[in-house]
Amino acid sequence: MSARPSPQAPDTPEVLARLTASGLRGRGGGWFPAARKWRAVLAEGGEPVVIANGAEGEPGSIKDRYLLRTRAAEVVAGIEMAAGALNAAGPILYLKGAFVREEEHLRRVGASVLVRRGADTYVAGEETAVLEALEDRRAWPRPKPPLPAAVGLHGRPTLVQNVETLWRLPVAVRDPEAFRAAETTLVSLWGHVRRPGVYDVPLGTPLGRVVEGWGGGATDGIGLLFPAGPSAAPLTADQANVPLDPDALREAGSGLGTAAVLVVGRSACPVAVAASAAAFFERESCGQCPPCVVGTGNLARIVRALEAGAARARDLASLHEAAGFMAMHGYCAHSRTAAAAVRGILARVPAEVEAHLRAGRCPRGGSPSDPFAPASPERAAIERALDETTA
Ligand code: SF4
Repeated sequence: MSARPSPQAPDTPEVLARLTASGLRGRGGGWFPAARKWRAVLAEGGEPVVIANGAEGEPGSIKDRYLLRTRAAEVVAGIEMAAGALNAAGPILYLKGAFVREEEHLRRVGASVLVRRGADTYVAGEETAVLEALEDRRAWPRPKPPLPAAVGLHGRPTLVQNVETLWRLPVAVRDPEAFRAAETTLVSLWGHVRRPGVYDVPLGTPLGRVVEGWGGGATDGIGLLFPAGPSAAPLTADQANVPLDPDALREAGSGLGTAAVLVVGRSACPVAVAASAAAFFERESCGQCPPCVVGTGNLARIVRALEAGAARARDLASLHEAAGFMAMHGYCAHSRTAAAAVRGILARVPAEVEAHLRAGRCPRGGSPSDPFAPASPERAAIERALDETTA
């Protein structure tokens, strides 16, 4: 990779203007324009707080830990630039409790930021859950509004920004036009693919080419392609030319999220994969909001029954009803993401759903495919790829 600029902070308006021109968007999953987030913090006045969110938790995602293990000094430079431009004292880098190795790397580069490790749950990476953890409470999302930009850590205006976003910040600010013209994003490519791993891929690359060119091809053809891990509906094989781009993917009824791109082979039962996703959302619901707890439980139960051939058409009607309710409730996005993702998977494979209903069993004779389970072979392989790349 090219030499990166030093983190000296020009004036706030200058940095902000350059950040705006670069079009840098948040890599924590939301793809929200970074400059707009900064402006919201600055509008509050006072002395803000900058928190780098390194609590990576999306199944299959290894990109943030990859950066923390291999580019720790550059990540810190980005954090310092943000803190300098926003006039924030004492930035914090927040990690999952298990990320001991990443903390060691940060210590080795003499990181000038305060490193804190917190909970290991998936939802603990949600930005307001991060604030709760840093205030020594249980890492549960807060109801919104207010957003952290207005009322964040200890009530102060707070910028919570993903590690990859901050890593890209100095490059984006140095030459906004060049950044915008050749923007890349880190893809964690996993599942039934020859070379699982983390790759820096130009935005706009067709997803099928990502699988072929960077991943060495699918091991069993492409059955389904999940650009955002479990967090958005998948693409089918004939949609594999949709570009790696958050807007294009949204238009295609999917999403890019943290770009934890999962390849599911043709032999895997897609209903089993839907059951795997539903189980993930049920397992990771933090328990605060009844519509999320009950709703994710209902989705998981119904899709499990469908997979086993024990569901009826009316059960699917209940699933859609539950999903519709979940879409409108919850302190964080977990409930509505679960509803959209599980419904989205089933909508991609209507013939498979119908065959399960008709046959009263899995027409493929059952499939052990459970990629989103904590110890699945797919997750183990991408975690191994992280360790091998960063050994
Ligand atoms: S929506 Fe679900 S995960 Fe989010 S705060 Fe409520 S219970 Fe927790």
